[in-house]
Amino acid sequence: MTDSTILPARLRVAPSPTGDPHVGTAYMSLFNLAYARKTGGAFVLRIEDTDRARYVADSERQIFQTLRWLGLPWDEGPDVGGPYAPYRQSERLDTYRPFVDRLIADGHAYYCWCSSERLAEMRETQAREKSATGYDRLCLGRTRDERATLPGFSETPVVRMLVPEDAPTSFVDVIRGTVNAPFPDDQVILKADGFPTYHLAVVVDDHLMGITHVVRGEEWISSTPKHLLLYRWLGLEPPAFAHMPLLRNTDKSKISKRKNPAARLTWFREQGYLPEALRNFLQLLAYPPADDASEVASFDEFVAHFDWQKVNTVGPIFDLDKLNWLNGHYIRSLAPAELAERVVEHLVWTEQWPADPDPVHAELVARAIPLVQERMVTLAEALAKLDFLFTADADLVVDPDALAKAGPDAGRVVEAATDALASLGEWTHEAIEAALRAALVDGLGLKPRFAFGPVRLAITGSNVSPPLFESMELLGRESSLARLAALA
Ligand code: GLU
Repeated sequence: MTDSTILPARLRVAPSPTGDPHVGTAYMSLFNLAYARKTGGAFVLRIEDTDRARYVADSERQIFQTLRWLGLPWDEGPDVGGPYAPYRQSERLDTYRPFVDRLIADGHAYYCWCSSERLAEMRETQAREKSATGYDRLCLGRTRDERATLPGFSETPVVRMLVPEDAPTSFVDVIRGTVNAPFPDDQVILKADGFPTYHLAVVVDDHLMGITHVVRGEEWISSTPKHLLLYRWLGLEPPAFAHMPLLRNTDKSKISKRKNPAARLTWFREQGYLPEALRNFLQLLAYPPADDASEVASFDEFVAHFDWQKVNTVGPIFDLDKLNWLNGHYIRSLAPAELAERVVEHLVWTEQWPADPDPVHAELVARAIPLVQERMVTLAEALAKLDFLFTADADLVVDPDALAKAGPDAGRVVEAATDALASLGEWTHEAIEAALRAALVDGLGLKPRFAFGPVRLAITGSNVSPPLFESMELLGRESSLARLAALA
């Protein structure tokens, strides 16, 4: 699968642990990993946790868990180690400081003591007067003591880039060709708390970790000129840049965790999507199917045909109908025993079942799965469809609407069914069906729909259910008769 004509590439995904991981992190990981595999290179997971205000403690664990669940493993990372450890930026603080000192010494960066109040006021004035935006360089060329005599002084300075007037704003993107980005501001690179900002840390780490291709979302295009300046000032060779399109809602707005539950990666697992279906779905976002005849493709097939030139820069629409279709496809292609295992895993993961499920229940899922496999779209639906099998007879709630519509014959039907089944020798779905047909269709002269409707209602509590006779076989004679008696 490895393409020996291309040099082994080193790629990374660099999520910030600011909450439940975003689906975009999985999307980026998929494309990064594909190219790493294609070139026989490496895929690195780096945790960018320098923004302490937005740090969420559990987020890193969720990132690990969801990416592993999706089958997107990293070769190097905080939890697996690697030659460039540590892979968590908060553990690399000593690494960044010498780079900052060098930029200051070379005149490419300067201290800024402006308080946040002063900066807010400055921005307000700029907006009101519609004048040039960006930092006004009040601190540039001043010592601490000189600056201290002016208003809006803060004791702990930040460090800013001194962006020259002729800073280049265009660059060549692997996917997009020449890209023009806005002129950069005098970006803060070291914060008052001593932490580097993303912009400095990303450049230093991508360099030190030997990253050859920076693949990230298009929202970072405007930052790239700043990064290129830093590479140039530090005398470093910049990596190649590839900016992937942003994922969009059906109304074309950017997918955000605030507005769309599907922006949360964990949501897909909660809903019972299979990781292979979600991965296949992500493979098709802004990217053509590997094969004209089918959108279904494994990760290996995706890698085999992988090419940056195929990425479409128009933000792909996140179409859940397609994901549902793919999920149904993958569910149908699993062996029933494997699907049953996935359903049990899902029930345990969502804490609907205990961590060590009752083996009798697990066995019942395995026997019932063939009844619902063809019609399931998500794993979560399995339990909904099979719930009646796991409900105690006394707790079964019969749908009142369905009961009201059951018709005047319902009582008679249930009684006749009970008589026919009580003495049944062998409790198999064939025998149950034969006995009920004889008693209800032939005996009472009812059409099958009217004959079996009340029985279905008694057994499952609903007038839509998995195949009735098979369901009764699974439920067993005793429960079936108890449920019929309850409705009679
Ligand atoms: N930490 C950035 C993020 O959260 C990474 C951006 C990049 O890949 O350079 O998306």
